[in-house]
Amino acid sequence: MIPVNEPLLDGNEKKYLQKCIDTGWISSEGPFVKQFEEQFSTRVERSYGIAVSNGTAAIDVAIEALDIGSGDEVILPTFTIISCIGQIIRSGAKPVLVDSDALTWNMDIAQIEDKINPRTKAIMVVHIYGLPVDLDPVLNIAQKYGLKVIEDAAEMHGQTYKGRPCGSFGDVSTFSFYPNKHITTGEGGMIVTNDKQVAEDGRSLRNLCFQPGKRFVHERLGWNLRLTNLQAALGLAQLERLDEFVQRKRRMGARYNAQLSGIPGIQFPQPHTDYAENIYWVYGLVLKDEVEFDAEEAMKRLGVKGIGCRPFFWPMHEQPVLQRMGLFQGERYPIAEHLARRGFYIPSGLGLTSDDQDRVCEALWEIMRD
Ligand SMILES: *Cc1c(COP(=O)(O)O)cnc(C)c1O
Repeated sequence: MIPVNEPLLDGNEKKYLQKCIDTGWISSEGPFVKQFEEQFSTRVERSYGIAVSNGTAAIDVAIEALDIGSGDEVILPTFTIISCIGQIIRSGAKPVLVDSDALTWNMDIAQIEDKINPRTKAIMVVHIYGLPVDLDPVLNIAQKYGLKVIEDAAEMHGQTYKGRPCGSFGDVSTFSFYPNKHITTGEGGMIVTNDKQVAEDGRSLRNLCFQPGKRFVHERLGWNLRLTNLQAALGLAQLERLDEFVQRKRRMGARYNAQLSGIPGIQFPQPHTDYAENIYWVYGLVLKDEVEFDAEEAMKRLGVKGIGCRPFFWPMHEQPVLQRMGLFQGERYPIAEHLARRGFYIPSGLGLTSDDQDRVCEALWEIMRD
């Protein structure tokens, strides 16, 4: 079986982990955590980095640090991971959705302005699968209406928008270091920002809002979302290789593009837009309407041939748990619905070999020919 993702851990990971063991620094108090925060935030041209236990936690903290809550509305794409919406809802704010762009699969920015009203507090942009959202128009809208911008850059390590790093835009940006991301800490995440107050609040919220001086007296409810020194050790070793990893992903994407081109009935990822080259966080495919089977069936047929696949995101407005809360009643977002039913991704991790890729391509040609 060719797994959908395998990380590469053959740099300084072992050496730095050994150092944690040798020195006894394994908790979040260890020195690698600060180093990782500094080096990562510098890499994405931000003043502050706050490491947390995962990418979902980074979004939760970002929402709380921006004081989003009851009476506020946050605009976000329906085609995204559930991580984006959880804390918006728990905070008492209202999530407001927009559909996707059919070619880039990112949020359709033309729909944002219509969704703005006096309660709108923030726009959450989510860069999907390897191409960034066209940020300039979003930032302009945010400025025009005085809105905060949260940039979910969980899939965008090493990617740029018009030459500037993803993760450097908006009021606060978030990353994940889950093993299928471009760099991994096993589990992990980071909030990056230039805003001192947001950074201080984020740091406090991550650590139960303990107070210096009066440690066990709390003015605010936080969480324990700390990253450990062991995880940061991995992160530092991975970060050293980010450029190499991005190149590797782009080579992988180019190889798929070349070998799969000509297969009928499939929409492939856009290799580039005006503002970015795809980094193929995952290599997604969308079955065109003329294909008689859907993504679920395609993944089943590829699975039989030993190819591990994953479905695309399922839209927020079609989530049973959110519908039961009475959210998004009667709302339709046809592009996202199409992507969810017709889209899936093929093995695209950093550990994928050329031989693996050849086998994936062969299997895909077979199922599309039959
Ligand atoms: C992976 C991912 C997350 C969540 O990160 P975790 O570390 O798995 O919690 C959030 N947003 C996007 C867009 C992601 O791809």
